[in-house]
Amino acid sequence: MARFCPLFSSSSGNCTYIGGASGGILIDAGVSAARITGALADIGVEPENIGAIFVTHEHSDHINGLRVFAGRHGIKVYASEGTLTALEEMNCLSDKYSAEVITRDGISVNGMRIVPFRTSHDSRESFGYSVFTPDDRRVTIATDTGVVTEETMSFLLGSDLVMIESNHDIAMLQNGPYPYPLKRRILSDRGHLSNEACSQTVTKLVNNGTSRFWLAHLSRENNFPDLAYQTSVSALSMIGASINKDYVLNVAGVSPKPEMVVF
Ligand SMILES: [Zn+2]
Ligand SMILES: [Zn+2]
Repeated sequence: MARFCPLFSSSSGNCTYIGGASGGILIDAGVSAARITGALADIGVEPENIGAIFVTHEHSDHINGLRVFAGRHGIKVYASEGTLTALEEMNCLSDKYSAEVITRDGISVNGMRIVPFRTSHDSRESFGYSVFTPDDRRVTIATDTGVVTEETMSFLLGSDLVMIESNHDIAMLQNGPYPYPLKRRILSDRGHLSNEACSQTVTKLVNNGTSRFWLAHLSRENNFPDLAYQTSVSALSMIGASINKDYVLNVAGVSPKPEMVVF
């Protein structure tokens, strides 16, 4: 049995819980330690049961609470070499917890196997993660990626649950208030995934047997949860797939209280 809960998900803070029978892990710690602790309490998880934190990259919406939360509970942190170097330079590492490079072979924590893959983003060395639970369910998280590369796709395919970025609506971004260089950065191959690009990926995945989706890392300025949801649901209806029959799809970071999914 796998447990999954997006505790926080948006351009302003990301943190996801994945657990098995004997404890869990976090992917990112992008909000304050107090908020992480509160959200974990809401789903009945003690910080002591978090075996490790896996960081996708060094942007603040992924590491804001890392130093305090990991330090307070002595939780081990894993990330790419590039991300750890960036965190060191930003003074985000501490002698109160250990931080280690995760190799491409992955690592086992609390009975789960966590394997990283490269994403395409304007940070030092960003990773997504596939998590294999003890009963061999696979959960894959791919956010902060301008495009879905072949490598990322190979990790998404075959997953039982996928959390994928549906960051922005392209027209909202283009017509919105962001300065031109920022718009160009977000739209680039090393920026963020649009609703449209997300929906194309989700369609491929449903065709290959994945049936549980969480749309994640929505922009507050350039997207609406309903728009992200509808873009994917419409694309899926074009291939004859019906929501809640052929697949389930939710938008992360919308409900006021975190909801645990057990599957
Ligand atoms: Zn980022
Ligand atoms: Zn981000």
